[in-house]
Formats: sequence, C-alpha cells, structure tokens
Amino acid sequence: MGRIVAIIGRPNVGKSTLFNRITETRDAIVDEEAGVTRDRHYGKGEWCGKEFTLIDTGGFSFGSDDVFEDEIRNQVTIAMEEADILLFVVDVTMGITDLDEAVADLARRSKKPVFVVVNKVDNNERISEASIFYSLGLGELYCISSINGSGTGELLDDLTKHIPEEVEETEEEERVPKIAVVGRPNVGKSSFVNALLGKERNIVTPIAGTTRDTIHTRYKAFGHDFYLVDTAGLRKKGKVHEDIEFYSVMRTVKAIENCDVCVLMLDAKDGIESQDLNILWLALRNHRGVVIVVNKWDTVEKDTNSTKKFTELVYDKIAPFKDVPIIFTSVTEKQRLLKAIETAIMVYENRKRNIATRKLNDVLLPIIQDYPPPSIKGKYLKVKYITQLKLGYPAFVFFCNLPQYFKDPYRRFLENQIRKHFDFHGSPISIFFRQK
Ligand code: GDP
Ligand code: GDP
Repeated sequence: MGRIVAIIGRPNVGKSTLFNRITETRDAIVDEEAGVTRDRHYGKGEWCGKEFTLIDTGGFSFGSDDVFEDEIRNQVTIAMEEADILLFVVDVTMGITDLDEAVADLARRSKKPVFVVVNKVDNNERISEASIFYSLGLGELYCISSINGSGTGELLDDLTKHIPEEVEETEEEERVPKIAVVGRPNVGKSSFVNALLGKERNIVTPIAGTTRDTIHTRYKAFGHDFYLVDTAGLRKKGKVHEDIEFYSVMRTVKAIENCDVCVLMLDAKDGIESQDLNILWLALRNHRGVVIVVNKWDTVEKDTNSTKKFTELVYDKIAPFKDVPIIFTSVTEKQRLLKAIETAIMVYENRKRNIATRKLNDVLLPIIQDYPPPSIKGKYLKVKYITQLKLGYPAFVFFCNLPQYFKDPYRRFLENQIRKHFDFHGSPISIFFRQK
C-alpha cells in the first residue's frame, strides 16, 4: 500500500478542477512561503491527518482537445502501473463516451483500487442520471461536483482508507538508507547509478516482498550499504516516447515516496530550473532528506570562484530552505561520485537524529526567553516545553499557551535555532505548536 493517487479519465471531465480542489488550500500557503510556483501536475492532498500525493494525468495532455485514444491509453496504463490508487473521473452531463469505455476497459484489469468519480453532479437531479455509470462495471460511484465541492468529503473518506497510517518508527532494527537519484531527463542519473553499481550489479538483492517492478537495488561496497531507488524504470523507452515527461514524473514521485534521501541531480550547464525546484519541493513536502548534486561539472569552464558562485545561485533559488549540501560531480570523469553518496548517507543520519527532550529544552528555552514571540492583541505568548516526535524525520512540538498566534516568521526563527544548535543538514524540519 502506498500513497500515490492518480486522476485518470478523458479530457474535459473535470480532472484538473478536482485536482485543484483537493490540493489547493493546502499547497497555496506552503508554496507561497517557499516561493515556488505550484505545479499543476502533482501535489499533496491531506484528509483526516493522512497525506497522499495526487497526480493529474490530464496535466500532461498534448495541447489540444483532440486527444487520440492511444495517447490516453498510454497514460492510463502508466498511471495504473505506477500509482497506488486511481480516481477515474467521468462527466454526468455527457454520459458514457467511447473514450470512457476505453479507460474503463483498462481500469477493470487493474489490481489497484479504482474509484469511479462521477463529476459535475452539481444538483440533486443529476444524481439519478449518474446511475448509468454503474454499467462501466467498476462498482460503487462517487457523485461529486468539483466546482462546488459536494461529495468530495465522502470520496476522500473512502480514498484515505486505502492510505497507510504514518507509523512511528521503531528503533530496534538497524535500517539501511534508501537513496533516490532524481532530476530532469538527461542530467546523468542513470550514468551515475551505473557508474556506482558497475559490475557489482550481480550482488543486487531486491527487498523481499516487493512486487515485480522492484525499484530498490542494494549496494554494498567500500564500507557502504544502502539501497539505490531507481527512477529509470524497467520500461523500454521507445514504447512511451510520447509520454516521456509524464512517465518520468510518475517515476520521480514514486522514487521520492520510496526513499529516505533524494539526490537531486542538476546539469551544471543549465543551473537550477523550475522543474528542479518542483522536484525539490516534492521531496521537502514528503519530509525527505536532500543532497543537491551538480553533475557534468566537467563541461563548465571554471575559475577559482565557480563552485562558490554556483552554490550561491542555488541557495538563492531554493530559499528559505538553504541547509542543504551541494556536491559538484562529473560522472564521465568519475569525480566525487562516492562523495555524493557519502553525503547522502550523512543526510540520512542527520534526518533520523533524535534530540533528548532535556537537551532540547536546555538549549531552546533560554533562547526563546531572550527572543520571545511578539505579543498579539496584548496577549503574551509563552512556550512551556519542547519535544521531538519520533516520526523518522525531524518534527518538533512546541507546547505553548496560544498556538494559533505563533506566526511563520517565528516558526522560521525557531527552525534556524534548531539548525544552529543541532545538525539537521540536508533534512527538512517540521514544527508544530500545541496548546498546553
Ligand atoms: P480536465 O480536462 O478533465 O482536466 O477537465 P477540467 O478540470 O479542465 O474541466 C473541464 C470543464 O468542466 C471546465 O470548464 C470546468 O470548469 C468544468 N467543470 C469541472 N468540474 C465541474 C463540476 O463539478 N461542475 C460543472 N458544472 N462543471 C465542471
Ligand atoms: P538521465 O536521463 O538523467 O538518466 O541521464 P543519462 O545518464 O542518460 O545521461 C544523459 C547524457 O549525459 C549521456 O549522454 C551521458 O553520457 C551524459 N553525461 C552523464 N554524466 C555526465 C557528466 O558528468 N559529464 C558529461 N560531459 N556528460 C555526462
């Protein structure tokens, strides 16, 4: 069971409207803060405390309404292979079209949960018209209106039953780091993975119990032991050439979900682009550790300041989250490849670092006393004590008198203080305020 939900269906049924409704309220705030433009293809949803990644396959359409059935088929097939849950959207005002039938044919063969979402049920009269979609043979119908929001609560109630709980980690088993190499096509991801694995590929052992499309490869050499999470996939490129962007996004999302640390690979020639920022954003939103690797460093003309300049450029773009290591590599020249992996393992260690409550309070309470949050409406804000949650990633709870009055600038101040006194280099930090 995973947490990737894909919205499928023919054009104009309301997929992107539904996508926006589910992701909007949540993402808008976070993204504004991070200065990242929202990606219309994938985002995070949350319902009753459960988080999932939502993908709008329609966002990858081909720029015209005249989409060929083959292309839809291709996308739906990829979505069915890569996602964990499918939302199959149909349009009550149009009834069942040939394309709906084609998608249903594929969906019926899927072993994954498929929710038939009858959209545009804006009023009660349309509920009776919706029953025609039972003939698609995919079971229960969820009648919703993406525009006014009706019915989406029930859909999300049932959807999140299929999303696993976030479990508190047990410390007993020594876990092996899972590292994913992610980035845009052609930056050098597969070359990097191949250079590392090389002839060692025969020591590869897939994680027991995973499915046919295992995406973890165990690497054990030079004193290192970790899993590499593959983004390239098993698919032959030719088969999906027209959907390469969609496919690579699906694999990236999946790799991020399946790792502890993302190595975000950039091409030194291109700097850092919005697509890179979107991947970074997704990794951070999933609480994954991050190492930025600037590959093809051999292709850049360098002077003594080049790494410094490039580093500043990257930090400038990824602000306010700047506590990330940046490594400059050349896969073809075999430069700093192990360094990249060692850094990822370091980030893995940082990410699971646990600070004792006593220590945390000894360090942070005096700072808070010296720099208290500004009082609001004549009310003094007080932090009573702080604990770290055991979630497997750094998350801290500040118990206080008036949690609703703690604002983002102060949250950032606290995060910076945590970073200053404890080493969470490369890992995002979550901060919560709770009433005490
Ligand atoms: P997509 O191509 O499947 O992503 O469809 P869009 O989300 O772009 O929606 C296609 C059209 O249907 C747009 O004009 C939407 O405003 C409209 N639409 C979407 N959801 C609803 C709904 O719940 N009710 C009504 N009446 N219109 C909707
Ligand atoms: P992927 O799509 O991210 O997996 O990228 P590939 O590993 O397929 O690499 C794309 C191209 O970049 C190939 O032609 C590689 O040989 C080339 N390449 C990869 N790493 C480097 C590097 O460090 N320097 C140079 N000059 N070329 C590289």
